[in-house]
Amino acid sequence: MPARVPALGAPGRTRRMWFVCDVLGIACAASTWVLVLGAAGVLLRAQLLPARDAAYGLAHGALFHLLAFLALAAHARAMLSDPGSVPLGTAPGGPRCPLCGCTQPPRAHHCMVCRRCIRKMDHHCPWVNNCVGEDNRKYFLLFTLYTALGSLHLLLLLGVPALRGYARGEWDSHSTLTPRASLIFLLLVALKGFLFASAMFATQLHAICTDRTRIEQLQRERAGPGSGSKWMNLKAVLGHRLSLAWISPFASPRPQRARGALRVV
Ligand SMILES: [Zn+2]
Ligand SMILES: [Zn+2]
Repeated sequence: MPARVPALGAPGRTRRMWFVCDVLGIACAASTWVLVLGAAGVLLRAQLLPARDAAYGLAHGALFHLLAFLALAAHARAMLSDPGSVPLGTAPGGPRCPLCGCTQPPRAHHCMVCRRCIRKMDHHCPWVNNCVGEDNRKYFLLFTLYTALGSLHLLLLLGVPALRGYARGEWDSHSTLTPRASLIFLLLVALKGFLFASAMFATQLHAICTDRTRIEQLQRERAGPGSGSKWMNLKAVLGHRLSLAWISPFASPRPQRARGALRVV
């Protein structure tokens, strides 16, 4: 069943609440949080706290929890940011969307889940329960980046010693390398997270650098690369000055555009 998107806020305000009420998307987004928080808790309790070297446990615990925190922060921003919805209502010029009735600007597509036209819509992602579009693409890119890095850290932290221990026949009932349920759970979460997130990160980075959304790639629209260089295209999404803000999920890539009157749908 199509979702409804509450677009709250007075006309002319620069920030709005945005949340897609789609049951499947909410379940997928919640499962993402459960997996990340579950992995963080299990890693701490079952692997790092029992470690004989306290400094080792502290350093790796801090690194993993930092990456998990940044991944979840980027996820929340991607989920709760307006991806670039086209204001409802008609304006002079341009084709009219037959589904939501807006005047569709170039490169906007209608999302059947959000029930709105989204500027530079890339795809609707159930894992962030939102469209990935012009205004939240940076947060989605950072979500995949930090998820891939956190998963890779987990794989190296647990997988490499486990394989070494197994090769040496060192697994025993007292070793933290024993393939207990916690270790198997963490390795499976890390493997799934790394494969999914790294593939998605590479796809998104390529799409951003070539300034072609996935819809445009599939529909073979805009066959050539975008008008700008790859660097300019990257700056258009991450921010116009290279800085730490590029990798911060808390920094908006550009000032929010003032929008016209938007009605609640
Ligand atoms: Zn539409
Ligand atoms: Zn959507």
